[in-house]
Amino acid sequence: MTFDYDLFVIGGGSGGVRAARIAAGEHGARVGLAEESRMGGTCVIRGCVPKKLMIFASQAPLLAEEMRGYGWQQAQTGHFDWTAFRGKLDEELTRLENAYTRNAERAGVQIFHQRARLADHHTVELADGTRKSAKHILIAVGGRPARIGIPGDEHALVSDDLFLMDELPRRALLVGGGFIACEYATILNGMGVDTSQAYRGDMVLRGFDLEAREMATQQLTDIGVDLRLGLTPVRLSKEAGRIAVQFSDGSTDHFDAVFFATGRSPYTGGLGLENTGVRLRPTGAIEVDEWSQSSVPSIFAVGDVTDRVNLTPVAIREGHAFADTIFGARPRKVRHDLVASAVYLRPGELGSIGLTEEEARGRGPVDVYSAVFRPMRSMFAGSNARTLMKLLVEPETDRVLGCHIFGPEAGEMIQIAAIPITMGCTKADFDATMAVHPTAAEELVTMRHPTRRHDAAKVA
Ligand code: NDP
Repeated sequence: MTFDYDLFVIGGGSGGVRAARIAAGEHGARVGLAEESRMGGTCVIRGCVPKKLMIFASQAPLLAEEMRGYGWQQAQTGHFDWTAFRGKLDEELTRLENAYTRNAERAGVQIFHQRARLADHHTVELADGTRKSAKHILIAVGGRPARIGIPGDEHALVSDDLFLMDELPRRALLVGGGFIACEYATILNGMGVDTSQAYRGDMVLRGFDLEAREMATQQLTDIGVDLRLGLTPVRLSKEAGRIAVQFSDGSTDHFDAVFFATGRSPYTGGLGLENTGVRLRPTGAIEVDEWSQSSVPSIFAVGDVTDRVNLTPVAIREGHAFADTIFGARPRKVRHDLVASAVYLRPGELGSIGLTEEEARGRGPVDVYSAVFRPMRSMFAGSNARTLMKLLVEPETDRVLGCHIFGPEAGEMIQIAAIPITMGCTKADFDATMAVHPTAAEELVTMRHPTRRHDAAKVA
């Protein structure tokens, strides 16, 4: 049987574009790709990239405060010009979108700027009705923000909407305590918005190391976010142009904008999966094996639509490994067990890799090397901000099982620490490394004695 393409990719985000480029450019496959929205996907257009630029923009008041502590007595930020920032942001996103398109086309990928759905195991139907057959199909359609299904939740915005707002709200509520809620609360607060955050739990960033979560929770309050814990909205309604929010404790408050940051769902609806028999997991994610292959042999899936580790670099690796395996005769799997990540808060970020202390002690004895200190830079300025450096070490093997950093530039630091930890390094390797002085990160190589040891395995 002959096909129009060797590979047809649905979705022009990080995972899909990487797979398409490698398959076409490096392995000579005939590749088609359909994208219904802007090339670049969640990360480039409405996620990591614009978010990080907003984090940079939002840190000015904290920097000014710090600099006043260094003697710049008049340091002030003035008023944040959202319109000017958004104009520059739009230009930057357009530049990146064009680069994504150009690079894919240069590799030989044929791009269709339309929605596509599956017609059968080897056929994709585009929105204009044309059909394309392919020996392999890759689904890389990502995820979409999930709403919590309370009355009036249509009045709320989701993370995508922030980047499109004509003006910033005067008073905003973030709902949730995960990556997006905490980052958005930090951003809006830094841009001068009167910001509240309602989270149903007692500490934000569930799943991360507890000590780091405590510091993140404290920091949100310290920078001025009105963090309301153990609380969640139960009803929203429109009142005189504002949104009235009724909370689970019976209280009501009014906001100019309410953002749900309550998780994301795989974007599998309307994809025609019923025409193929591709199996889904209970979450709606496409079930794949370690080769990213679905229950239908000709159909593969990578990225957030598979709900494995929902991070851009992981999707890129999955897409690359898929292309090398299928078209390059270089079978490659992706490790999902040791993935570093960062939550971009201010002034302290949270960088993390490997087991948390709670997970590690649930598996057996663990030595905890934990240093909490006031870093030189902010302490001089009079700030009480604390930094955390933590290593979790398996006593029997001396292997480093996890590393958690809370403090300025923790994202940068964890990227570097992730290299030896991924290589399987020991605590002795950290000890043998000469410190760079004076840095905050030198603490990672100068912690001589365990702060505590958990002996017996306890359920995390
Ligand atoms: P998360 O899964 O991180 O957090 C969802 C939050 O919403 C949790 O606090 C959760 O509470 C809460 N929640 C879920 N359902 C409800 C409900 N029905 N009522 C009230 N609260 C609810 O999702 P995000 O939306 O923050 O981010 C989505 C994904 O995007 C992340 O998992 C991550 O993979 C990715 N991301 C990564 C970033 C990075 O790497 N820096 C930045 C932004 C996003 P609870 O904890 O109690 O379940």
